[in-house]
Amino acid sequence: MPTRALFPTQIYEARLRGAGSERLNRRLLGECRQFREDDLAGQRWSRRNYPGGYTSYGSLCRMQQLSPTFAALERRLEPHVARFAAALELDLTDRPLAMTDCWINVMQAGVAHTLHLHPLSTVSGTYYVRTPRGCAGLKFEDPRLDRFMAAPPRRADASPASRPWVTVPAESGRLVLFESWLRHEVPASPVRGERVSISFNYSWF
Ligand code: FE
Repeated sequence: MPTRALFPTQIYEARLRGAGSERLNRRLLGECRQFREDDLAGQRWSRRNYPGGYTSYGSLCRMQQLSPTFAALERRLEPHVARFAAALELDLTDRPLAMTDCWINVMQAGVAHTLHLHPLSTVSGTYYVRTPRGCAGLKFEDPRLDRFMAAPPRRADASPASRPWVTVPAESGRLVLFESWLRHEVPASPVRGERVSISFNYSWF
């Protein structure tokens, strides 16, 4: 075919591997649950902004500086972020990417996080700590969607690269990275059980 892809939208997916990664996951899960119990400011913020769930986004949004366990996660994310930046061919000469925010999300059945992007950041992502079978994934929107004027719908069997929305399954032990301008949402989970994840932003300094 004499076609080529321009302006690709890249998503990075990987599993956290290596010695101690399961142990780290268990410790992260324990701390996520503990903070949900103890973080009264976060519970208040979540009641207003994250109905039915808990997020530390409005209260403890730099977990990597608060907890050695989250700092360990940050160290493990580092090579993945570097690999993603390389795939994007970002020129980071003299100005590295650094983690600015890192927060906890606990979603029960029916809790949704509507379409949003992460302003003032460069690369964002999520690490999945606990994911009940069948829980909601991370749904990305084609960033060109607002320009699709007379565009016909895509075939039902279109490849993911051609679809206007693509959902990456949430799977414990895995991480997803994307550029922060890419809109995404977490639809309401249809299954019981806590879906626990840790999200983060990297900025370019
Ligand atoms: Fe997000």
